[in-house]
Amino acid sequence: MNNTPHAPVTVIGLGLMGQALAGAFLKAGHPTTVWNRTPAKAAALVAAGARSAPTLGDALGASPLTIVCLTDYDAVYELLGANGVEPDPTTPIDTTPIDTTPIDTTLINLTSGRAGQAREAAEWAERRGARYLDGAIMAIPSGIGTAEAVILHSGPEQVFAEHASTLGALGTVTHLGADPGLASLYDVAGLAMMWSVLNAWLQGTALLAKAGVDAATYAPFARQIAAGVADWLPGYAEQIDKGSFPAEVAALETDARAMEHLIEESEAMGVNAELPRLIKAMADRAIAAGHGGEQYPVLIEEFGKP
Ligand code: NAP
Repeated sequence: MNNTPHAPVTVIGLGLMGQALAGAFLKAGHPTTVWNRTPAKAAALVAAGARSAPTLGDALGASPLTIVCLTDYDAVYELLGANGVEPDPTTPIDTTPIDTTPIDTTLINLTSGRAGQAREAAEWAERRGARYLDGAIMAIPSGIGTAEAVILHSGPEQVFAEHASTLGALGTVTHLGADPGLASLYDVAGLAMMWSVLNAWLQGTALLAKAGVDAATYAPFARQIAAGVADWLPGYAEQIDKGSFPAEVAALETDARAMEHLIEESEAMGVNAELPRLIKAMADRAIAAGHGGEQYPVLIEEFGKP
């Protein structure tokens, strides 16, 4: 029933993202109930066929699946009841009541946050009787409802399986594992990838600009390099998982010499050399620890430190 093509669904939080989520459910034919702190934001969705829940309690009881998408976890707790963690009995100053009203729905919290917050929220939801998945949206509102929208979920596999076809209305949905923190971790890992690629591209763009090459001319070359490097990941991942880094292509020392060229070139051209220096500093530490003859992914040891 829950996983039928037209299972009912509720969306709580109708900001830019919540409205896109509710709109995608409606478009896919799901009877959709909506609720927002500022009720006016439900108007367009109601005009498109959504039902506006008169109260939050009504919204929470309306569907077997309830999506929550608010600003942050503090907003989720403020809205859904009391604080996220049980008060410490040894600190009697904390008199915040724990709301124990049962929540009889599957809650999927697509609010962005950290892994620890997701795990805490999973415990909180369990205490309230709800089935809980945490999620992360790797898309912008206009992409929701298309295959380009990647939406990550973590928590009990069976809960995900029960609602996977309904969630499919939102985009490409994935279940990452039972640990509720995984969706948030993949989210930030993806952002680390995104910013690193973009920063590396900007470094090269700034350098080439000094020689009169515009960004559009450099972009196809940069894209080719990024795609080539991406192809190395499976082999490098194998080295990391084995903990063995034979220099099959190049030794870290060879990379370090090229890093020095990048620093010198950046300084000579009068562009920012902070990023190349940071990269070189990490390689230097690994070389000082005796890893100069090994391959680049041995740097995982530097990344794995606090
Ligand atoms: P938004 O447009 O600012 O909307 C925030 C929503 O949270 C509104 O519905 C707001 O209600 C509600 N809210 C905030 N505090 C509340 C409280 N104390 N009680 C009840 N409701 C409260 O933000 P958004 O763009 O929709 O983002 C929502 C979540 O999606 C965030 O965690 C964001 O990181 C994530 N996300 C967004 C994007 C994006 O491109 N927009 C992409 C990926 C992930 P009111 O309408 O009453 O203010």
